[in-house]
Amino acid sequence: MNFEDYRGVWVFIEEKDGAVAPVSLELLGAGRLLADKRKSQLAGVIIGENVNELARITLEYGADKVFVYDDPIYRFYRTETFMKAMLACVEKHKPEILLYGATTTGKDLASAVATDLPTGLTADTTQLDVEEDTGLLLASRPAFGGNIMATILCKKYRPQMATVRPKVMKALPRNKGAAGEIIEESIPIKEDDIRTKVLEIVRTTTQRVRIDEADVIVAGGKGLGGPAGFRVIHQLAEAIGAAVGASRDVVEAGWIEHHHQVGQTGATVTPKIYFAIGISGAIQHLVGMQNSGLIIAINKDPGAPIFQSSHYGIVGDALTIVPMLTEAFKTALG
Ligand code: FAD
Repeated sequence: MNFEDYRGVWVFIEEKDGAVAPVSLELLGAGRLLADKRKSQLAGVIIGENVNELARITLEYGADKVFVYDDPIYRFYRTETFMKAMLACVEKHKPEILLYGATTTGKDLASAVATDLPTGLTADTTQLDVEEDTGLLLASRPAFGGNIMATILCKKYRPQMATVRPKVMKALPRNKGAAGEIIEESIPIKEDDIRTKVLEIVRTTTQRVRIDEADVIVAGGKGLGGPAGFRVIHQLAEAIGAAVGASRDVVEAGWIEHHHQVGQTGATVTPKIYFAIGISGAIQHLVGMQNSGLIIAINKDPGAPIFQSSHYGIVGDALTIVPMLTEAFKTALG
């Protein structure tokens, strides 16, 4: 493998409801910094149907060029079709670094591509950089239950690949009308050769708000006393259209599933408003939510560390205060 042949930083551009997924915009921001450090170009890879608009947006968020696979066969995400397109693109244009969002689609595609290419994949990274003297990608992620940050290098193979958690990197401001190269690509691929068929898309009827995308999160901790007490968190969240978050102790006690956990070994979130209710404010929790726009804590202990990191604090019993707040919000919102 001749490393000289591999140049440029690429981002897999994921589509979500007809727009570029927020995580892809964040990765373009992170990728721009890496590309500048490597004195190379930043490219997006778009696979889909009628994706001209997505290509334009990708350039406006910092890419120098975009590789586009535009065909009805890519209308819905399928591992097989997207993997074939990505593999062909990598073989033809040889990126040095290839990043994917650590979303359901991004993780699926990245791991499928990694099984075919003779290279590795660092999953769920939270920090990216390049080593000054070697130019190697430094992909860091929490390891051993979050006790250490592990920095993983791919020294012997190319491309260096990583999936990156949503909401950790920063997107660049949109530069409307930014120019760049749009490179149309295609591969010989026929529907008959694809084993997976999309028969129907069924949307779930309960539109649960996802924690990593929510503008408002109501998070509860051990101070709620048990699953019955924790119900006040769900009630407040429902009243204001917020997502439900939780501390690890609550998840470990089995009051709620792990995908609600915020913190070092859970999700990193940056909502506009974060309610921390009955949560003490351990450092492992704070690292997952301290960049929220407005933090409101409710705790019966005035000395609880969470108050050091909050913009507003209410000292008192959450089981009394939260139902009152819920009623007040319900009245205010009609
Ligand atoms: P507690 O620390 O027990 O706090 C409960 C709080 O509720 C107290 O401040 C108390 O004053 C208050 N309270 C009690 N009753 C009431 C009431 N009636 N009304 C109002 N307030 C009340 N934790 C995470 O959250 N996320 C992580 O990702 C995470 N990862 C970890 C990784 C490692 C390697 C380790 C070692 C720990 C990790 N932890 C994580 C655990 C973390 O250290 C804390 O133990 C945990 O966050 C505490 O959860 P808590 O705040 O719900 O509970």
